[in-house]
Amino acid sequence: MDQITIDDLRAQPIPPQGHFINGRTCASESGATLDVISPINGQVLTQIAAGTPADMNAAVAGARAAFEDGRWAKLAPSARKKVLLKLADLIEARALEIAVLGVRDNGTEINMALKAEAMSAAATFRFYGECIDKVYGEIAPTAKDVLGLVHHAPVGVVGAIVPWNFPLMIGAWKIAPALAAGNSLVLKPAESASLSLLKIAELASEAGVPDGVFNVVTGKGSVVGETLALSMEVDILVFTGSGATGRRLLEYSARSNMKRCYLELGGKSPNIVFNDTADLGHAAKVSAAGIFRNSGQVCVAGSRLLVQEDIHDEFVAELCRHAEAYRVGDPLDLSSQIGAVHSLPELEANLQFVQTAHDQGAEQRCGGHRILQDTGGYYMSPTVMAGVKETDNLFQNEVFGPVLAVTPFKDEAEALRLANGTVYGLAAGVWTSNLSRAHRMVDGIRSGVVHVNTYGGADLTVPLGGVRQSGNGHDKSLHALKKYFDLKTAWIQL
Ligand code: NAD
Repeated sequence: MDQITIDDLRAQPIPPQGHFINGRTCASESGATLDVISPINGQVLTQIAAGTPADMNAAVAGARAAFEDGRWAKLAPSARKKVLLKLADLIEARALEIAVLGVRDNGTEINMALKAEAMSAAATFRFYGECIDKVYGEIAPTAKDVLGLVHHAPVGVVGAIVPWNFPLMIGAWKIAPALAAGNSLVLKPAESASLSLLKIAELASEAGVPDGVFNVVTGKGSVVGETLALSMEVDILVFTGSGATGRRLLEYSARSNMKRCYLELGGKSPNIVFNDTADLGHAAKVSAAGIFRNSGQVCVAGSRLLVQEDIHDEFVAELCRHAEAYRVGDPLDLSSQIGAVHSLPELEANLQFVQTAHDQGAEQRCGGHRILQDTGGYYMSPTVMAGVKETDNLFQNEVFGPVLAVTPFKDEAEALRLANGTVYGLAAGVWTSNLSRAHRMVDGIRSGVVHVNTYGGADLTVPLGGVRQSGNGHDKSLHALKKYFDLKTAWIQL
């Protein structure tokens, strides 16, 4: 049989999509839908169900019932493992189909979508499936007339709310450990990036996840997201998205059942280049990728470049050469290196950031425009703004688009002060050939990760999370598993 191609998949119509509740696809009880606009060409791709509070409450009730009767929670970990490994296989077998679906929905270029979305999701289900039958309880070192047992108990019903960038990768980082630990789950994808996650819910059911254990409710954050976060039946909330929404979730938690909230939020990550960097050409190339891949729509994007004064002009010119050489275009064309900006409002917000930077005295070194407008899609040229001051909008606030702010510094002390000069603390980069300086910077920068002589490397085995207003949780690695368990103790008098 001939292999299905990207063009075959691109041409397939996508039928209107319902929620996935209690093991079946269903429309919203109101019958309302939302149009899904493809950023590739600005056209309507399909519709998703516009969820209502009643839809969300039905999903949460289903998840609660599934948890209470133990159809998943009380299975042996090895049985849950078997199902999660099968799910990983199913995703891998349909990786191209899933990746193309996601690209049509959210504009990430296909090479990245295949690797960082579909294959990464499969790897995540495999990772947590593999580890779950190796989690042991403990016997506490009490006096001999007592037995103190420490169990890992699933928390119950997990509410997960995820953003539109890398929905599948980030979704899997939450779904896989939550299910592995024996919880039931209700997932609320971003309204503009639901399609690939709905597909994963179907495949999970095919792999053997029992009905009601994994539910997906689509629709607006202010409606179904809010209902999920306010629910008295949701035990923990795991979230990736903006700080503004994260702040609301903490309020909803306080107003309802004080559920624990794990928040993965935005960033304004500094990438610091010292004049003793061994290979400045390489640093410029990697720094360009660190901000411009996926059109800058990466939470850990190195969006503030801090460069030592005496190499500033040369380094920025080299970085702009890389920025201008990127092939921006149709994300389903394998030769494109950068795809579309996710939506028209996002594109307009990016351009507004550039305008405000101009108004505040920054100098545009490259990019700054909407491009390929004749396609109807949302594309923007990689943009470098130099001379950005500490007090400027572009220095302080996350763009979440392909816009780099450049600020010069004199010495290490000033670099560190500038690096820590925002409310965020997600990621950072340091380029230097001085090992002691590298360690001092790793120690001094207040962020979840500091890359040294590279930018943006990551692996499933390494936790990802922010500090300060970039959040309080960690996805990935064995550390992430902990939040899906409660520690439950038994005190047995012998
Ligand atoms: P967003 O906060 O607008 O939306 C995220 C999710 O929250 C969506 O599903 C949305 O529908 C939902 N939501 C919105 N309002 C809600 C409400 N009132 N109640 C409940 N849910 C609500 O974020 P976004 O624009 O989708 O994503 C971009 C942001 O995510 C950026 O700030 C980015 O840095 C951040 N992000 C962080 C990480 C990380 O690991 N720290 C990873 C990726 C993205």
